[in-house]
Amino acid sequence: MLHYQKEKMATEMKEGAVYCARCDSEMISTALPSYEYLEGHALSNVPAYKCHKCGNVFFTEQQAANMKQRTKTLVESTFGFHRKITVTGRSLAVTIPQELASHLNLSKGVTVKIIPSTSGFMVRKVKA
Ligand SMILES: [Zn+2]
Repeated sequence: MLHYQKEKMATEMKEGAVYCARCDSEMISTALPSYEYLEGHALSNVPAYKCHKCGNVFFTEQQAANMKQRTKTLVESTFGFHRKITVTGRSLAVTIPQELASHLNLSKGVTVKIIPSTSGFMVRKVKA
């Protein structure tokens, strides 16, 4: 799923210069118009090094860390489940989708913590 792993094949040989692992040409600093660090979550204008000869793409540790952070922000802003609040007894309740529950290994009796945030709240599993 992480494209960065397989494309990180270049080596930084002299300071400031990056050489292509495929053809050994010096790579140039550029910005990719679009790149999916995580499949299905395209980032735009992504700083990278690109080989002008063979098109190989390379990211420095810093560039990769930056992409990872941008992707995390993107995922958090776009990913989620819509739920209607229901009532159970005298409390309001939000149901957890089955696929999410099984993915997070949640079941009846598991303790979770509700953490208020600026725009609502987060629910986090309490480690046993
Ligand atoms: Zn190359």
